[in-house]
Amino acid sequence: MINVTRTYLPPIDEFKEYLDKIWNSGWVTNQGPFVSELENRLIDFLGVNNLHLVSNGTIAIQFAIKALELEGEIITTPYSYVATTTSIIWENCNPVFCDIESNSFNLDPDNIENLITENTSAILATHVYGLPCDVDKIKSIADKHNLKVIYDGAHCFGVKLNGESIFNHGDISTVSFHATKLFHTIEGGAVITADKNLSDKVYLFRAFGHLDDDYLSIGINGRTSELNAAMGLCNLKHVNDFINERKSVNMHYRELLKECPLVFPDIPDEVEYNYSYFPVLFENENAMLKAKHTLEKNHICPRRYFFPSLNELPYIKGNSCPVSENKSRRVLCLPVYNMIQEDVIKKISGIISACL
Ligand SMILES: *Cc1c(COP(=O)(O)O)cnc(C)c1O
Repeated sequence: MINVTRTYLPPIDEFKEYLDKIWNSGWVTNQGPFVSELENRLIDFLGVNNLHLVSNGTIAIQFAIKALELEGEIITTPYSYVATTTSIIWENCNPVFCDIESNSFNLDPDNIENLITENTSAILATHVYGLPCDVDKIKSIADKHNLKVIYDGAHCFGVKLNGESIFNHGDISTVSFHATKLFHTIEGGAVITADKNLSDKVYLFRAFGHLDDDYLSIGINGRTSELNAAMGLCNLKHVNDFINERKSVNMHYRELLKECPLVFPDIPDEVEYNYSYFPVLFENENAMLKAKHTLEKNHICPRRYFFPSLNELPYIKGNSCPVSENKSRRVLCLPVYNMIQEDVIKKISGIISACL
């Protein structure tokens, strides 16, 4: 069976070295030395100011909303993973969906201003598949209307825009280190912000809001463990190789599928991309489903990622977003992971070509 992704596991001896140290110290959680070390390494690797590891990428978004004290309406993208929307609702805010660009999968800044009301407090956008949103336009709209900006950067580990980490945009950026992501700690995530005050708030939220006997704010349990941090320290050594490898997989698919009536995302010149996903857009839903079913018969499982458009979730009343609804019905993410074999890429491309 070939799935859309396969979790990278480091050579087991590399992980065991950390396990030995954890067994010797007996320190397994509560801001242990490996959590601190990974936080510092990530700050260096990414080129960001403040970063806190948390237990997953969803609580990272919830912490961002809470730290910014958002309320009322949050303008957000309908084209993302469900966690982007449910975090807003979980924090007692209302998602207002802003349709996406026709030539990308990201929120279209030109649609934002029509959606702003006196209740709007923020914009929460996703850099979909790791390709940056139009951060300059979003910032100028946010500044004009005094709105906060959060970026769900779950897909963007290592992505740079004009030579700088994409995580340096917005008031807060969040990232997921789930096992299906490019860089992972099995479960995990981080909150990244240039603002030290916001960063300190998140630090307290993460562990019940107290430092020893000083009870400073409300909080919850959003911690990560030494074992998760150890996995991250192992994987961080290999992350540049992951990106190079995925780049060649991406180029390979593009070459093999270039005669097909499919659309692939553009990678702008100013972006240093991480090639974490390979989405293809079919001409219509039937063509996509035919390819998907034929691949499945051959034990290959691509994913309808992202489907449904989040404004169509059954438990919310979302405003309509025709571009997102249309694209989400036609998109399929093809398998991309480390050590994917060349003949697998050829087989997948061959099946899709034959279907079309
Ligand atoms: C994976 C993902 C999340 C959630 O991250 P978890 O670590 O699984 O909680 C949030 N947003 C997007 C866009 C994602 O892809």
